[in-house]
Amino acid sequence: MFAARYVPGKKELSLGDIPKPTPGPLDVILKIRAAGICHSDLHVLHGEVPYKETFTMGHEACGEVVEKGSEVTENYSAGDLYAVHGPNPCGHCNYCRTGHDNLCNDPSRTFIGLGQDGAYAEYLKVPARNIVKVPKGISPEIAAVATDAVLTPYHAIKTKGGVGLGSKVLAIGLGGLGMNGVQIALALGAEVTAVDLKDANLEMAKSFGVQNVLNSKQISSLQPLSFDVVVDFVGLESTFKDAQNFVKPGGTILLIGLGSAQVPLTTATAITFETKVQASFWGTHVEMQELYELIAQGKIKPQVQTAPMKEVNHWLHELEAGRIKSRMALLP
Ligand code: NAD
Ligand code: ZN
Ligand code: ZN
Repeated sequence: MFAARYVPGKKELSLGDIPKPTPGPLDVILKIRAAGICHSDLHVLHGEVPYKETFTMGHEACGEVVEKGSEVTENYSAGDLYAVHGPNPCGHCNYCRTGHDNLCNDPSRTFIGLGQDGAYAEYLKVPARNIVKVPKGISPEIAAVATDAVLTPYHAIKTKGGVGLGSKVLAIGLGGLGMNGVQIALALGAEVTAVDLKDANLEMAKSFGVQNVLNSKQISSLQPLSFDVVVDFVGLESTFKDAQNFVKPGGTILLIGLGSAQVPLTTATAITFETKVQASFWGTHVEMQELYELIAQGKIKPQVQTAPMKEVNHWLHELEAGRIKSRMALLP
């Protein structure tokens, strides 16, 4: 089957044929219908998130179950769509059993498409426990990108950030994650201000009802220390400094972007204002089920462009150049 594989040290994925996977007793095989491209793929290809092994990339997956292992009791109908919970938790450890399965600490777990084979391929093997049924009416490309570009901001903003009715939220970076993040904050009843370098993204955010949008170059016109929650979808030194400048005393910075290996915290200010810095990772199985309901109800409308999977390297370059408006999904 076709697969686009990460090879350590190479800046592009290697395209070629590899054997189709066969299921272990508790696995299913998905025929991939769509696979989203995440900025994290670029961090891996640039060596900023280092992996030593070769694997098929792609951690936003949606497909149809075409085969199952001998111990899988669930029945799957042809044509039904399933999305993959990429953190790929074990289901047994203390984190998994207490609803924090994004933090699973089983030593053998690896993330789908990050360290083990993922979705830039015709077929994907995944434990049956780590797929979620997609409600009818949601397209494969929307279902695919929701597994990360919606799940990650949902977990951060709702669960870790506690954003709710009347919260004042500043979102920095309106790309794949941020464009869904602002919709999630609005759906929770927040008043949202959003900044990005690209005016087209600001216009799109406005069309979703974001109350205030401005170009990052004008960020200094915002009122300092005035937001309950600042969501840093970029994670550069500069954006993390902005987050500290604009979060209220006692407020929360949600750190999601991996733009820099390290970000500086101004100790005196953070201490004086008791700033909460909350890093946030992907999301849980239960949150994934919740967000498909929100998408089905039209409360979150992920914006997705599609292209043939064989063009993956081209679209990774386009993402790097900042030429993808929201999210890109590849179709086999
Ligand atoms: P993306 O490339 O689609 O979007 C990034 C956006 O940030 C773009 O719109 C860009 O114009 C904007 N931007 C860049 N520099 C900026 C600046 N200085 N000021 C304001 N806006 C700026 O990326 P994405 O796929 O949405 O991912 C965002 C980040 O989140 C990446 O670093 C990615 O690796 C990370 N990520 C983290 C998690 C997690 O679990 N924490 C999950 C997925 C992705
Ligand atoms: Zn991702
Ligand atoms: Zn676990």
